[in-house]
Amino acid sequence: MVDAGRRDIERAVSGLAARLPAELAPLASIAYDYSWCWHADGPALFEAVDAERWAACGHNPVRLLREAPQESLDRTAADDALLARAADIDARLRAHREGGPDGAVDPVAYFCAEYAVHVSLPVYSGGLGALAGDLIKEAADRSLPMVAVGLLYRQGYFRQRIDLTGWQREYWLENDPALLPMALVRGEDGEPVTVSVPVRDETIVVQIWRVDVGRVPLFLLDADRPENSAFARFSTAQLYVGDPAVRLTQYALLGIGGARALGALGVDPVVVHLNEGHAAYAALDGPGATLQDVVEHARRRTVFTTHTPVPAGNDAYAGPEIAELLEPLARERGFDLDEILRLGRTHPEAEHEPFGITQLALRTSRAANAVSRRHGDVAREMWADIWPDRLTQDIPIGHVTNGVHVPTWVGGPMRALLDEHLGPRWIEHAADPATWASIDALDGAELRAVRRRQREALIAMIRERIPRDRLARGEERGFAQAGAEAFEPDVLTIGFARRVATYKRMGLLVHDVERAVGIVGGHQPLQLVVAGKAHPKDDPGKELIQHLLHVRGAPGTATRVVFVADYDVAIAAKLVQGCDVWVNLPRPPMEASGTSGMKSVLNGGLQLSVLDGWWAEAYDGTNGWALPGDVDADHQAQDARDAARLYELLEGEILPSFYDTENGWVDMMRASLRTLAPRFSATRMLADYARLLYDPGRQARPVSRR
Ligand SMILES: *Cc1c(COP(=O)(O)O)cnc(C)c1O
Repeated sequence: MVDAGRRDIERAVSGLAARLPAELAPLASIAYDYSWCWHADGPALFEAVDAERWAACGHNPVRLLREAPQESLDRTAADDALLARAADIDARLRAHREGGPDGAVDPVAYFCAEYAVHVSLPVYSGGLGALAGDLIKEAADRSLPMVAVGLLYRQGYFRQRIDLTGWQREYWLENDPALLPMALVRGEDGEPVTVSVPVRDETIVVQIWRVDVGRVPLFLLDADRPENSAFARFSTAQLYVGDPAVRLTQYALLGIGGARALGALGVDPVVVHLNEGHAAYAALDGPGATLQDVVEHARRRTVFTTHTPVPAGNDAYAGPEIAELLEPLARERGFDLDEILRLGRTHPEAEHEPFGITQLALRTSRAANAVSRRHGDVAREMWADIWPDRLTQDIPIGHVTNGVHVPTWVGGPMRALLDEHLGPRWIEHAADPATWASIDALDGAELRAVRRRQREALIAMIRERIPRDRLARGEERGFAQAGAEAFEPDVLTIGFARRVATYKRMGLLVHDVERAVGIVGGHQPLQLVVAGKAHPKDDPGKELIQHLLHVRGAPGTATRVVFVADYDVAIAAKLVQGCDVWVNLPRPPMEASGTSGMKSVLNGGLQLSVLDGWWAEAYDGTNGWALPGDVDADHQAQDARDAARLYELLEGEILPSFYDTENGWVDMMRASLRTLAPRFSATRMLADYARLLYDPGRQARPVSRR
């Protein structure tokens, strides 16, 4: 494990422990290693200290231990059974952190603009962060030497509330790093370790926080330092803000600052893995006398994962903006700015072509991958012009299909059931199809009982939140009150939760309002939970939410259709664990992969999805339902067709099967678990990355394709 900052974490642990009864020292130590959150007993342990306080402080264990009333701490200190559980978890976490390959092995450095490690660390917005969080957790579990680099956004991503007209409103909350499980990395002299990054006309000083995610340290860069200008200090405050100047500053800090920070921390990575292009400027600041040398050096060790199958989704900026941003770096290093600009254009000679970070990343890495098989095809087409002398199939972009971190997303009851049937070490061997072979022997009634328990946990969350959400946006009392009676434990529960972008087509759910309302209240009823945030600048996305919420007047829907505001990873977990069917309706081929469906699979959820992203390689006719994945330029016709098919499947197959006492539903759950859980686990994904991208023996060769 990389040592830089470890002492600072230990100091923070002692500082916290000193405020607590002596018996609670192990809890302080657990609080500063996020691997508690995927330990089977971790969340329950903190909840047992003070359930109310645990909820009130957003499941942040450092805040819990600092803010819990003395009587809760004293009661915990006198609870021998609880202390024994804490001692056990602490010993396991410690043994794992300290065991395995030693710190002398040069790690993979993973760069990403966002990480969803846990709801209490709000430095993520959605799918990209969820993937990054899952990947570093898996690396921790597998003891793959890795350090992760990101930015500390003190205000995180925006929080969502909905007003009475159904319009999304955004607000931001400030996080105090002193109350988060992280420590400022300090040098021998006790002063914070800092690095300087020349950005436009300013040299921005950034400090570095360390977060422990099991064996993987996550270093978060933070520009909120007194010597910086107000603009610079604010530049790392919010994630994915609209202003292009701020975003470009963030990219420079993440890429150039991140690479310099690793140097200052004494880390010399064997591989630099850029997860999305945001950190691509890292390639411009390595060792070397000329830009060419520097790029050559980067190319020997950089691998790049692209996530964006839509040309407009790939960040690109006018040449002069980039020139202004990078001018001081070019001056400092003696590089020709025009040469830098050429690296970011698909056609280097086309001077008026915008500068794209994806192009820069593709040009400066030795291997690149898309995130599903179909996305690989799309990405090779999209970027073919960068390699004008190659056939499309020889474009050096392969694919590693996404996967999800099993112990993070599997619900408690399901985990216990699988522990019992697949053996105690099934999670370690989750990627091995043999692990799942005995699923077919799983008793149908037991499986249904576990599903019911997880559905009930979702319903409890809904009944608690929906009245509050509705009252907060000023709904009339009766409608708000109905939220407290929302959902029934034996009714088919359907989930649709994701970033609200137009291509995700949330509107298909209510394409034909009358028919949709008829299905919800039919003799075989259905209940629907929807959640998702639209980007603050995405008015069409906000209109979609508004349109959906306007269906609330229809009879019977007040308790059967709910919109859960402020989607985050905690809500996502409840939804994927509780829903029987998980719906995904992207407009093909715009879904790079999607991962929420994989989380649902682990919990016995069945997929109803367009054959795009991961589902295009996952669906086999027995393990879920599919809508066509064809590309159609006539979007209206496509929407009408897909909505009709969606309703038909619900009415004709899904509802009858769910309410049938025959075992068709259970058979499909078994098929889904058996065929999908191993393939779409982060264990398989990390093994693919290690084999196809990290292995230095593969230098300069394209990733092989299956
Ligand atoms: C898993 C997850 C996502 C990704 O879901 P998609 O299937 O890609 O839409 C987004 N947001 C949160 C909070 C998640 O947990």
